Parts: sequence; C-alpha cells; structure tokens
Amino acid sequence: MSNLSKRKFFFSIIVIGVICAAYFIYPAQHSEKLTMATFSLEDESPPSTFPEPGQTLYQMGLYLDINTRTLYGSTILDTVNTTGKPLDELWFTLYPNAFRYQKGTPAPLNAYYAGFDAGWLEINGCKVNGQEVEYILDGVSLKVVLPHDILPSRDINVEMQWQSRVPKVAYRYGVNDGVYMLGNFYPILNVFTEEGWHISYNSLFGDPFCFNCADYLVRLNIPETYQMVSTGSNIQAVAEDNGRVSYLIEAKNVRDFCLAVMYDYNELIQEIKQVTIKCYVPGNNTDMARDILQESGDILNHYSCTLGSYPYPEFKVVFVPMKGFHGMEYSGLIFLREEFLAKGSDQERGLFILAHEIAHQWWYCMVGNDQLKEPWLDEGLANWSAYKYLEKYKGKSPPPAANLKGGINLAREMCDIYSTREYYLTAYTGGEAFWFGLEKELGEETVTRVLRRYLADFKFRTATTKDLLNIIEEEAHQEMDYYFDLWFSS
Ligand SMILES: [Zn+2]
Repeated sequence: MSNLSKRKFFFSIIVIGVICAAYFIYPAQHSEKLTMATFSLEDESPPSTFPEPGQTLYQMGLYLDINTRTLYGSTILDTVNTTGKPLDELWFTLYPNAFRYQKGTPAPLNAYYAGFDAGWLEINGCKVNGQEVEYILDGVSLKVVLPHDILPSRDINVEMQWQSRVPKVAYRYGVNDGVYMLGNFYPILNVFTEEGWHISYNSLFGDPFCFNCADYLVRLNIPETYQMVSTGSNIQAVAEDNGRVSYLIEAKNVRDFCLAVMYDYNELIQEIKQVTIKCYVPGNNTDMARDILQESGDILNHYSCTLGSYPYPEFKVVFVPMKGFHGMEYSGLIFLREEFLAKGSDQERGLFILAHEIAHQWWYCMVGNDQLKEPWLDEGLANWSAYKYLEKYKGKSPPPAANLKGGINLAREMCDIYSTREYYLTAYTGGEAFWFGLEKELGEETVTRVLRRYLADFKFRTATTKDLLNIIEEEAHQEMDYYFDLWFSS
C-alpha cells in the first residue's frame, strides 16, 4: 500500500465512521462529530465562492405538528469561510416570511382557499461556533451578527432553533387538501461572491432565490398516517410507538432541500438508465403516473445525452394542489400542478411544463444562477431545452419567439421588472429567443458545445451572464458583441 493509498484508506475509514455515527445520532445534538464529513481532500483548486459546495453540510431535525401546522426545526450548519476575507456577519434567507402579511404575499389571492392565512419562520436561538449571537430579521432575510470576525479558512458552525408556520394556501410553501408543499421552508445561508452578499428580497413573481449547492442530512418526524417525499434518498425509517415515524434522508450536492408531506398518495417507481424515477399522485391516477414516469425517463435521458449526465440516483415528480405555478423545480424533485392529471387537461402544455421543470435540473440545480439578478439564465435555457426536446421527439414546431431578432433586454433584474407579464417576456420569451437566435448564428453543434462547456465549468457552482457570454465567444472562436448587443441593451 503506497503512502497515498494509506492516506486514502485512513480517510475512508474516518468518513465511513463519521457517516455511520451520523445515522445513529440525532442530528441536532452532536454537531462536532460530523464536521469532518464535509471536507473534500481531492479538491485542491482555490475556492471562489461561499458557502463552498463540498464543504457545506446542513443537518436538520424536523418535527411536523399537523394540528398547529407548525414545523419545529433545528439546524446545524457546518461550512468554512472561503470568502478570502474576515466575516463579521452571515446572511440567511427565510422564505416562509414572504407569507407573513396579506400585502406582499407572493401567493395569488385565489390560492388562499380559506381566506388569508399567515405563514412565517421564527428563530428561537442561534449560536455560531458555540457562542450565542444576535440576529436581525428583515423580511425574508436574516442577518446574524458575529461577535468576533471569522477569519478566512476557519470553520463556521451555526446552530439554529426555529419554527415555521405552514399557511393554508395552495402554493409552493403552504398546505392544501392535507398536502404540505414545503419548498424553501428552512433557513438557508446566502451566497457571498466578490460583489458581496447576495441578499434575497420578496418578489410577487418569479423565483427569488440564489443558493449554493450543499450536502444535507435530515431527520424528519411525521405522523405515521402521512407519507413523505423529498430531495435526496431515504436511508432509514423508524416507527415510533407514539404513532409517528422518523425518517433519515441524505442528499449530496443539491441546490436546495424540498419536502412534501401528504396522505392517500400512490407512489410509482421505475428505473430508467440507472436513475430511479418516482411519481407521486393523489388517489387513483396511476395510469397517468405511469405515462409521466416513462416520459420523465425519456426527457432525463435526452438531456443527459445532449448536455451531460443527470447526477442524482433518484428523480421525483410530485403532483400537488398548488396555484400560481404550473410547475416548480427543486433539486432531484419537481412539483407539478394536480390539474394536469384531470381528464381533458391540456396534455401538450403538461408535457412542455414537465420538460421545462426537468431541464431546471441542469439549469438552476446543477448550474446555479442568481434568480433575482439574472432570471433569464435558468428560465431561458429551461424553456429552450424543453422546446428542443419537443421538436426532436414530438415534432412540435418552435415557438414564435424563435424568430425574434433581439429587442428584449435580458439584463433586467427582478426588482426592475414590474409585472408578471414583463417578467415572462424577459426571462422566458427573451431567454428562449436568445438561444434560438444563437443557434441560427452558430449552428446547433456549437450551441451544444457551449452548453456542455457551461455545465462542465459550473457544475454544482453558480454562474453569471458574463461567464456564459465568455464561453459562447470562446466556443464560437469569434467576438459576439454584435449579437449580445441585440439582447443586453435597453
Ligand atoms: Zn422555470
């Protein structure tokens, strides 16, 4: 055994030991024992982002009280100060606080089936590196004030106790018909780049998120009459003698952790090209679910072959009673609106939404972007990728936007957009038109090369428009200002 092999061997023993320990220890109580699992010895390249994927682990203990619609949470977050600077504060996003007041809630009025009902997340205590800290809540943001600077390369351990109220609303954060739709339900550490903190704000439309990939180990406790589905893989389920069940879930390198808790659902499973695909439908919609499984497998396979492989062992489609969105993407899991299961629903539209949300596994989940600053990056690519799939396999013609020759300013941030209509025109129509136009300029082969390179360079990281335009010029072997000017000037 060489020295290197020995080192690898001992490292493996430590990692296996740590993982085994993690399975048996309630995550909220023993943070220090698990910190080592987050280090990656192979990665020697200088980190350029914070929190660094591969060095960031969320351990959460979650207890859902159905009677009060309250989720009691404890989080232990371990990461490393990879900003290259001393840190005197940490910023988190608390998305449930977007639902606190009727004025400002992102959910549409008709989603509140029982009148307005407030949702929120409150922090009951926070420690950083073992010390109690002060924190300030501001809308969907939380600022944690550090008593001492945390120097570059030093470990950061955050312990947080929190509780969140799930509002009665048919939305991506809410409960309807006994289905808890829990997207972005927990405190998430924001991204810090050269420009500083990317701080989230509430927006009435779109996806106001920017997060880096991280690892998750989650202990979830729910009544045994309920079922659950989440990002990642279920590695343990323990029935308790009090009518509840406790699950342990693990997810690696995911952009976010999404959860749904429901009852009376059917689960259908099929393995297609090494990915276990699961579809969750209410009642007896199993025929439809079978079709969705097959179609999801075909779509995943198409994107994997064209762009680069799907990275997770599982992919899940969950039909939920939500309004305001046709679908919503999370890492390894998508929500689709229940209406698509109804007889006589627009099947073509449903298929497009499925292909769009699956494309987000590449554009948003794998290659992240700041959806507040540059929403066109993931939405434009998800739309264009979906159209390409439908064109190739279903003979569908490209949308009218394919013939646009610029004139939409893609550089607009969410806060500079004043209506849902404008938002769709910029991020979706403008975004897809940019790619159809680029294909006409450079040909399909070059565009595919651009996207493969974009994925390879930014897999599990966060990219910007500038990064993407640089790759386009490099792969096109020419200056592209004449083309970019059509799309990035007001
Ligand atoms: Zn989308």
